Amino acid sequence: MARRRRIKKTRIAEEELEEIKCAFCKGRGKDPFKVLSPLSNCPVCNGRGVVRVRKSYEKCKACDGTGVYTRSHLYCWTCHGKGVVPKKVKTGAGSRSQ
Ligand SMILES: [Zn+2]
Ligand SMILES: [Zn+2]
Repeated sequence: MARRRRIKKTRIAEEELEEIKCAFCKGRGKDPFKVLSPLSNCPVCNGRGVVRVRKSYEKCKACDGTGVYTRSHLYCWTCHGKGVVPKKVKTGAGSRSQ
């Protein structure tokens, strides 16, 4: 029963994703700054309160994990409001898989 799965490298496998609380709205799902309207959904998580990230992530240094761009009502450009960024994995140029 060899089932071949073709996973493109550009596509992230489901198992590698994790749902975390949206940093920008703190999981409320609403725009924390009411830029458009008090009822508008959070632009980062689209009102879900959670965001999907790669499992190997680390705190975004640009916003210190808050997801908010410093002194603004916008989400952080570095992490896109998630508060975390994908961990940089050191890969040698042209790494070979054995
Ligand atoms: Zn949100
Ligand atoms: Zn950030």
